[in-house]
Amino acid sequence: MPFSWDVTLSTSAAGDFKQRVIDATDIVEVIGRSVALKRRGKDYVGLCPFHQEKSPSFTVTPAKQLFFCYGCKAGGDVFKFVMLRDRVEFKDALYSLAELARIDPPKSGAGGNDKQKAGERQQLFDAHSQACAFFQKLLAHVEYGKAARDYLQTRGFTEESVKRFQIGLAPNAWDGLLTSAVGKRFAADLLATGGLLKRRESGGGFYDTFRNRLMFPIRDEQNRVYAFGGRKLAEEDNPKYLNSPETPLFSKGRSIFGIDLARQRIIETRTVVVVEGYTDVVMAHQYGCANVVSILGTAMTEQHVAILRRFADRIVLLLDADVAGDTAVDRIVSLFLTQPVEIAIASLPPDVDPDEYLLKEGAESFNKLIAAAPDALTYKTKLFDREYQRSAGDMTAQQRATDRFIEALASAKGSAPIDAMRWHAALSRVSKISEIPLVEVKRRLAAKAVAAAKPPPRQVVVENEVSAPEPPPAPKYTLPKYLTGRLRAELRILGVLLLKPNLWHGVQRNVGVGEFTDPAYRAMAEVYWDQQRNEGEPDIGEFLGLLSDPVLRELAMIATSEVEALTDPQQVLAEAIGYIEEQRKSLEAQKLEARLRKGAEEPLPEQAQVDLLKQVQDKARQPNLRRA
Ligand SMILES: [Zn+2]
Repeated sequence: MPFSWDVTLSTSAAGDFKQRVIDATDIVEVIGRSVALKRRGKDYVGLCPFHQEKSPSFTVTPAKQLFFCYGCKAGGDVFKFVMLRDRVEFKDALYSLAELARIDPPKSGAGGNDKQKAGERQQLFDAHSQACAFFQKLLAHVEYGKAARDYLQTRGFTEESVKRFQIGLAPNAWDGLLTSAVGKRFAADLLATGGLLKRRESGGGFYDTFRNRLMFPIRDEQNRVYAFGGRKLAEEDNPKYLNSPETPLFSKGRSIFGIDLARQRIIETRTVVVVEGYTDVVMAHQYGCANVVSILGTAMTEQHVAILRRFADRIVLLLDADVAGDTAVDRIVSLFLTQPVEIAIASLPPDVDPDEYLLKEGAESFNKLIAAAPDALTYKTKLFDREYQRSAGDMTAQQRATDRFIEALASAKGSAPIDAMRWHAALSRVSKISEIPLVEVKRRLAAKAVAAAKPPPRQVVVENEVSAPEPPPAPKYTLPKYLTGRLRAELRILGVLLLKPNLWHGVQRNVGVGEFTDPAYRAMAEVYWDQQRNEGEPDIGEFLGLLSDPVLRELAMIATSEVEALTDPQQVLAEAIGYIEEQRKSLEAQKLEARLRKGAEEPLPEQAQVDLLKQVQDKARQPNLRRA
């Protein structure tokens, strides 16, 4: 059962809690944090976070507080959304939505610890939130935090930035966090799982992961801290930047620093700027460039792109001059050729950091630099062209440069399906600069692909954020292509029942599950009738969660849309039931007549014949309830 309750919660307390969370939660607001939603009529649409798509089929209906994807058929209520997005059980989804709505969970009866009720993920979020508060407190401490605050000031950080990004200070000790209130409140094992502590290699025990570092909390779209990046304060410490290790909450390959604060501005400008370090992000925001984020000291992955392109049509990578022209660029070109989003590269003058650039040139120049950034392929072509021209007269060097470009393209080809137009543009640019005929470029490319016949780089499965949590079960049913009057009546009954479950009690007296003629309709009716009989009136979101077959979920959406536009559900229901009853009666009448005709050959007892005849006449007198 997907909707089971913790046994320590009494059903009514749990129900109240859940209801309070529902009342305080708006599905559009919650989903809007992870998906850029656009209004379309009474719905909102966006790119589905659960499957790859180019045009939006992911729909959020505020009136029903439901979401549904017409592409992958994922759907349900806000709890289901969080369960799919965060890959958690219902209980964790409830707790995280409660936290977002600032609703305290009910106290458990036997004086037990509330925290035990939340799953491990929720506990890890709690631990991070409290560690974050602890680090902030240390930074604010008059004496203890002074040196770190001075450093921030010399780097130009304002107090407001420090507050907005919740920057803190990790104590200069091996057991600072361990012996703090955080260490006392949470089990050391849990803190180690969350990457805040490390296990001693010998002798047992734990020690702090982050020591004497400026702490930058990494927050998700819901502003929840789930990891940290620490910048060293002492010259002799290494490395300069230290991230949380991979944990159940944190994976470098799909984490984006600053996304919570940048999201709104990214949606407005449809552009996101990706810089290298956390400090660059903080400074950019401080200068008013609020669509700036950072990936955490790692190469851009398909997962990063998948998250960013939900909000942006254009991703601009701001590269330091020294990496530009390297494998980093090849990697970006490869993404550009395979991902359905504009990816551009901006480069800074040599030896200039983004924050130095902002300081010297100001936000306007920065924005101009971003706006003028060439797409990744054009950027790469320019580098190639420059190298090729520089080697004029040296055929070997030119050959080498050409080969390298072709190699970069060949590696993109192995990784994922290629955008045909961009691919063609790439090949013709190589051909134009190197003056090698296009056919020959293609031939060399094919040769490279064969030579590099290593197993093709597995297309990175985009975890958590993008793939469905489990492969959707193969649908058992197909929906009828055309609606006959009968099917429309059945569909309307299902639709009204989904929106007004209290009307079922009347319906089930008049219509049986077996009377639904389409197999999919009948299957859904069976689940619905069962739910009503055993668990009571189902909430539509809950009901969608009970349907494992994607086609049945789609049917539920179609059925509710069918009746939503109609003003009076009671009236709709009466007409639909009337239609079915009328058909039933005429069917019975046909049977009766058949029996009568048969009776003429094998005479029934006289009274029985009279009764039958009377029945047929009664049927004929029933008012006709059918409506177009
Ligand atoms: Zn989908």
